[in-house]
Amino acid sequence: MSQLKNTHSSFRLAIQRMSELKRIQVYEKPIDQNLEIAAVMKKLDGGKAILFPSVKGSNVPVIGNLLCCRENCEAAFGTSYQDIRRLVDRAFKNPIEPEIVKKPVVQTHVHTENLDVRKLMPILTHTSADSGQYISAGIVIVRDPETKIYNASYHRLQVNSNNRLGIKLDYGRHLRLAYDRAKERKEPLPIAICLGTDLALQYTAATMGSRMPEHADELKSAGGLIGRPLAVAKAISQPVIVPAEAEIIIEGKILPDDMEPEGPFGEFIGYLAPKADAPIVEITAITHRDNPIYQAINGYGRETIMLRKYVLEASLLDILQAATPIVLDAEMTAGGLHRFHAVIQIKKSTPQHNGMQRNVIAAAFGALKDLDLVTVVDEDIDIRDPLDVEYALATRFEASKDLVMIPGARGHEYVRASIDGIRTKLGIDATIPYEDKDLYSRCEFKEISIEDGCLNDASEAFDQLWKI
Ligand code: MN
Repeated sequence: MSQLKNTHSSFRLAIQRMSELKRIQVYEKPIDQNLEIAAVMKKLDGGKAILFPSVKGSNVPVIGNLLCCRENCEAAFGTSYQDIRRLVDRAFKNPIEPEIVKKPVVQTHVHTENLDVRKLMPILTHTSADSGQYISAGIVIVRDPETKIYNASYHRLQVNSNNRLGIKLDYGRHLRLAYDRAKERKEPLPIAICLGTDLALQYTAATMGSRMPEHADELKSAGGLIGRPLAVAKAISQPVIVPAEAEIIIEGKILPDDMEPEGPFGEFIGYLAPKADAPIVEITAITHRDNPIYQAINGYGRETIMLRKYVLEASLLDILQAATPIVLDAEMTAGGLHRFHAVIQIKKSTPQHNGMQRNVIAAAFGALKDLDLVTVVDEDIDIRDPLDVEYALATRFEASKDLVMIPGARGHEYVRASIDGIRTKLGIDATIPYEDKDLYSRCEFKEISIEDGCLNDASEAFDQLWKI
């Protein structure tokens, strides 16, 4: 395995690389931040990133769909998706302490008086069913008041007024723990909301579960990903550190007692999260660099789920290859929102490997809590081609004996078909018994190249044929 290079994945550099590789398109006409930008993003989801330079009522451009597909991610990081997964793996295994810099670019402009978040950046309303404007790409940095460990995580932020944001804090999230601890002390919780950060931080902030336990620090992991310390600076108005090269930072504190209605909001799962009371962020400062770019993510959009795809695949492969070394590759599929369904490719090399595919299924469910469906296929199946995976089901899978079910297991609470996150996990064994491999060898044709000009429209050919 070749040595992984240190990566530079700052927001500006990533955008420059993507632009050079033609992975950014520009929406030339003036556009409204209310519903229109999100609608264009949805329409072009899964394709090139989109820059909106003329947003009505704002002089700050919006960039959307930044990391919404493999091609964009590979251009942004300047490497293959396989290497992105290896960078992610390195991030968790070799964290690096961040480094404080003086004169951070993100503090080139500082606002502390008469703050109105809506005047300083174009905040989208995403769907007409949403309660209003949402900051959707904000990474919240906090230092836990008890453990003193830094945490960085995505949370949706509803604009309640000029300097108050509603913040969704799901139970189990580390920011929720920090908030509960501050609340117990009757203290506000200092935070910073960061927009347009180094992509390494975007990836580690999107990581949850066993790969990013409470004692792990996302800022250090981001350093691990890029192979050098993440540049940070002291915030202006709160006792936290912030990424020095971000586009925009909103500093503030989560109030211990205030609650206001939050939602509904169109979530990643494609349904509306219902309205409920949520804690409040009081904004104390907003800083930004020269000519900042505002990053927006559709809650129900491909970027939300792509942010976790390579992180989850890297985690899954790391655990499976240690537990069940017949595993070659894994794909968290798009239809399963890159989170709920995995296709795993294995290779049986001896009769002793028969049955191991079932161990792989069990290990996969153990590795990723939210996985609900695991399909295991052999090495000749292209796991990135849904048709080829279905071919394995059509020709190698016998439902009466190849289904593995684990009833009553824990999954994700947002899955509507579950009961509070409890659901049956399903494994599909679409592999061939080792001794039957010959019976299943796929027909192969001669390798041939077709020269230019060999293939033309058929009408002339028929004219010729029928003239005779
Ligand atoms: Mn954490």
